[in-house]
Amino acid sequence: MSHCQSSARSGSGVSLAPGSVAFVTLGCAKNTVDTEVMHSRLAAAGWRLEMDPARADVTVINTCGFIGPAREESIATILEVAQLQQSDPRKMLVVTGCMVTRYADELWNEIPEIDLLVDLASFGRIDRLLQETRETGQRQRYQGGDTYLYRGRDRKGRLTLPHTTYVKIAEGCNHTCAFCAIPGFKGRFQSRAPEDVIEEVRSLVADGVKELNLISQDTSFYGVDRGGRRTLPELLRRIDEEVEGDYWLRLLYLYPTEVDARLLDEIARNPRVLPYVDIPLQHAADSVLQAMGRGQSGDRLRQLVTEIRARIPEVTIRTTMLVGFPAEGDAEFAALEAFVRELRFDNLGVFTYSLEQGTPAEGLGDPVPEALKEERRDRLMALQERISAETNAARVGRRMRVLVDRLAEDVAIARAALHAPEIDGHVRVLRRAGTAPPRVGAFVDVEIIDADIYDLDALVVAAAE
Ligand code: SF4
Repeated sequence: MSHCQSSARSGSGVSLAPGSVAFVTLGCAKNTVDTEVMHSRLAAAGWRLEMDPARADVTVINTCGFIGPAREESIATILEVAQLQQSDPRKMLVVTGCMVTRYADELWNEIPEIDLLVDLASFGRIDRLLQETRETGQRQRYQGGDTYLYRGRDRKGRLTLPHTTYVKIAEGCNHTCAFCAIPGFKGRFQSRAPEDVIEEVRSLVADGVKELNLISQDTSFYGVDRGGRRTLPELLRRIDEEVEGDYWLRLLYLYPTEVDARLLDEIARNPRVLPYVDIPLQHAADSVLQAMGRGQSGDRLRQLVTEIRARIPEVTIRTTMLVGFPAEGDAEFAALEAFVRELRFDNLGVFTYSLEQGTPAEGLGDPVPEALKEERRDRLMALQERISAETNAARVGRRMRVLVDRLAEDVAIARAALHAPEIDGHVRVLRRAGTAPPRVGAFVDVEIIDADIYDLDALVVAAAE
């Protein structure tokens, strides 16, 4: 059920032929996929992609509404584009994404420059909604209903590098982490049909994609809503058996309670699935994990990390921690610091807690001072820097297969299995004198010759293709 509201809009009487559209995507990789779906719908309706919002007839801002700083960035971007459009009343400002689902009234009432508001339930129909808005010459807002989950055929155009992409296999979340508002605005977990995912993977690989990053709010929960059990291992096995080609599958956003031996063994067995486990643990102190509603103890998380390393040879583990949650005192932070020192993760992100309306933790207040949160974040990141530098140094002399993302002067910037796009380090592939640079989008075999905190230097040992 989606409803619409409208009010008078300046600059009506515009030609109704499709023109140029620019997209600004904020937030996470799931938003990138949603923007690509909107781009595909508008391209099919005759709209031409424009990279510069200042020159576009229409600008679509796909917002993030997860936490305070993300919302501030969304509002700043909306006002910036409204400013750009001020001189030409025929230009249109369209706002979509999580912020619309969470704060539609505020956006509608406080930013009259917004011509069209489309929430997470309605963005799959953006082409028709935009046309309706143009025909009526009225501001419009469309809201209500379950979060729209695309099908493979809805996404024709991609806005990432041509050889790497995200595949959103599900949307929403059934967990109740106390600090998190996502279940409140993204809704219940819904998986895409395995046939639909496999078909999309097949067409992407046929299109030359080399790396497919499978994402959702909880990728390890895949299938539970379609039969009561987790079926990610089966999905991975079917992709391996049914989609020919030379490509990588990378899993992002696994949830600790949903990761079991079946999944780990499939990751280890499946030649296409990278030995890469992205598993946000959030904390290690029992009292904090309990207050966060994470459903596991620090000891259980330690066992899980040990089991992941035991079952998947050469595995890279990425995790994220949240510091400054109300239940975190000095002792609890010390336990977290000791945990990070002991388990030595390959990649670590640390966030500071921000109180969110509508979350289970809202009633706990926000007692930890911001300065102390930041001090704890910085202490953990400083520790991680030392760990990362040591771990990277131990990789010198090893041979790796890397995927070339781009060329910069006389080096190629590439990533190995241990580097997820946009969040981890990379490999600088140096050029031997008189040799041609490797091809962007190609796999090459390299030998690591040097390392710094997050990145590696390498020389080509053989062009894989
Ligand atoms: S798993 Fe937890 S942190 Fe992640 S989206 Fe769901 S509720 Fe939020």
